[in-house]
Amino acid sequence: MAGYIGRHLTIHKTMFQVSVEETFSAGHALRGYKGKCENTHGHNYRVRVHVAGEELDSIGLLIDFSHLKKILRELIGGVDHKFLNDQPPFDSINPSAENMAKFFYEETSKKMLQIPNAPRITSITVWETDETSATYTPTS
Ligand SMILES: [Zn+2]
Repeated sequence: MAGYIGRHLTIHKTMFQVSVEETFSAGHALRGYKGKCENTHGHNYRVRVHVAGEELDSIGLLIDFSHLKKILRELIGGVDHKFLNDQPPFDSINPSAENMAKFFYEETSKKMLQIPNAPRITSITVWETDETSATYTPTS
């Protein structure tokens, strides 16, 4: 009987998720694309980083927003007002919203290593327009 009851017990872990967003402007051209996007054009991009974790610090924060914003701003400094096709890694891979979301995930992850007890990044979304976005979600 105890075993039967046990099957209905579920341990619910609490989970906090926070995110920050930054914007930048850049130009790109999609190689191999048949249509308007193969021509050089620009976007006002938006990038949102989501992080998650179970534990808050002593003052009730998952991560200081300003730390996360600083990391994102540093990365954006490398692409803002640039022609993305000239910037590594987009000089060899296409600067699609999908590849940019993955790029921001990888670079943000590296910089997060500098923050002690940093929460994990759960996803990064890059918007090319208000209606179009791509999200990169790492699978462990
Ligand atoms: Zn475009």
